[in-house]
Amino acid sequence: MTEKREVVWHQGEVSSAERQALPGFRHQPFVFWFTGLSGAGKSTIAFALERQLISMGIACCVLDGDNIRHGLNRDLGFSPLDRKENIRRVAEVARLMMHAGLIVITSFISPFRDDRSMARSIIGTEHFREVYLNASLDVCERRDIKGLYRKARSGEIPGFTGISSPYELPENPDITIDTSFLTIDSCVKSLLSNVRL
Ligand code: ADP
Repeated sequence: MTEKREVVWHQGEVSSAERQALPGFRHQPFVFWFTGLSGAGKSTIAFALERQLISMGIACCVLDGDNIRHGLNRDLGFSPLDRKENIRRVAEVARLMMHAGLIVITSFISPFRDDRSMARSIIGTEHFREVYLNASLDVCERRDIKGLYRKARSGEIPGFTGISSPYELPENPDITIDTSFLTIDSCVKSLLSNVRL
């Protein structure tokens, strides 16, 4: 974008503390940023965690990769540039939702370290919990619940993470969950035991 824009930030009057004093919002909002291979369990655990938080009376919501690509990001593909824009938009939306008082759970492969670090800086490092859902390529490929690995192996899907496009391992995730061995329930418990609500 090159044109000069006369856009000025308009500061609202309601503080975060005031918003959090409302019923149902008595917790510090933050973002759980899930990352991991396709099939690692991001969506499954994100929605199970949402279920659990709601039953504890905590306002939260999920931003799910495939779902967002049906709407907000339907114009984006899977080139590195489009993946970056996908993550940038989601991080901005997550930040808005967090400021509205929600715990936000994002479920995106987010394979590139630079993109995850961009998300961290958009959201603010103090609010950002990087959660690495660690399941080996072998486990994810054996699950292949959507048949995508089979298509990627046969060349039907180009640039597929783990097969023909890289997944850059998180170097210092806040939380790592191994979904190969744990039940979905224990993954959720382990996540909850790692954060202060
Ligand atoms: P992703 O969103 O990472 O692509 P999904 O959640 O769509 O992954 O799929 C993960 C699959 O693995 C689901 O079929 C789920 O039932 C299965 N699964 C088995 N064990 C676990 C576990 N501990 N955590 C999450 N998913 C698991």
